[in-house]
Amino acid sequence: MRDWAGRLEQRREQGLYRKRQVLGSPQGPRVRLDGQSCLNFCSNDYLGLVNHPQVVEAMAEACRTMGVGAGASHLVCGHHQAHHALEHALAEFTGREAALVFSSGYAANLGVLAALATRGDLVFQDRLNHASLLDGVLLSRATLKRFPHADHQALKAMLKDSESAVSSSSQRFVVTDGVFSMDGDLAPLDELGAVAKEHDALLIVDDAHGYGVLGSGGRGSVSHYGLSEEDVPLVVGTLGKALGTAGAFIAGPRLLIDYLVQFARPYIYTTAMPPAIAAATLVSLRLAEDEVWRRDHLQALIVRFRKETAALGYRLMASSTPIQPLLIGDAREASRLSQALLGRGIAVSAIRPPTVPEGSARLRVTLTSAHSHADLDQLLDALAAEQSSIGCSQTGATA
Ligand code: PMP
Repeated sequence: MRDWAGRLEQRREQGLYRKRQVLGSPQGPRVRLDGQSCLNFCSNDYLGLVNHPQVVEAMAEACRTMGVGAGASHLVCGHHQAHHALEHALAEFTGREAALVFSSGYAANLGVLAALATRGDLVFQDRLNHASLLDGVLLSRATLKRFPHADHQALKAMLKDSESAVSSSSQRFVVTDGVFSMDGDLAPLDELGAVAKEHDALLIVDDAHGYGVLGSGGRGSVSHYGLSEEDVPLVVGTLGKALGTAGAFIAGPRLLIDYLVQFARPYIYTTAMPPAIAAATLVSLRLAEDEVWRRDHLQALIVRFRKETAALGYRLMASSTPIQPLLIGDAREASRLSQALLGRGIAVSAIRPPTVPEGSARLRVTLTSAHSHADLDQLLDALAAEQSSIGCSQTGATA
């Protein structure tokens, strides 16, 4: 038997043990966490739609008319009209021929990679990609190659090098997050797209944190760069972040979507997402598209947060998105600071290894359009008060 208890103890000793806090209220800018009322800067509810009355009502009404669960997998008899309608809406939203809805982003990423890549193929991934994209390659049995973060030149060299090593039947894939979940920066999709095209590799973008937030009408990082389906053939989006519900989708050419329905095991061998979630997402998708003020307000909060935390001497990362990490470095120090903020009634997650590289522990502040400027004032006041306690000689902010 492996020493399970020893490994847990080691985590504790390293200050890396992760505790779950119990949420006793709806998600939102103010929550009850472990019984304590606090301001919340941890959620991915970027557009404040999690608890929107129209979205809630759509879900409640769909539960009354369709029941709570799908009752079966998609290929048996669980593919409801609501899933079908959502897939059409998402295809239209992303400007793709077709879309396929999954129960989670994790499953979508496993599904797309395990179905399309196979033994002998090469999958090139950004070093900071989400864990589900790495796990998808394991499931596919293809070979994983990781390129330095956002470095299209390094990718180009690796693709070139691989040319002599792969057989003519091998496929190559380039896979990247659109917005990096722990750093908040954007992948250079224009350059990655050009390199992938030049080397005949299929580019897949996981835009979990981009949809709803970036681009025209919230059409994500592909739209932010003004790219098309030709540049980025396959996109993955999640529904549990800016859209406020749950699940995910893959959008792309009809042929590949048809292929995924037949071969993506994480799609086939699981109960379909509750149809009421699909019905609620149809409403939140419309709100995300139409209510431009949500993105405008969010942008104003982001600009203010960066300016004022940089002035306090915090180290920012190169992010223009709602994910605004403050680099602390030491894991214990990040945890201590997160606890100190909680003591002041403000919830901010400490992100530590192994989620981020050793020595780069951080406070991951996420802003949402449901936050007010007064909420931000409170966060900034608390960060100012704690700054001296970090012994924060952390100057040289990258605003
Ligand atoms: N991709 C990225 C980039 C993510 O950040 C996440 C979730 N944190 C996922 C995929 C997984 O999505 P889900 O939570 O819907 O499983």
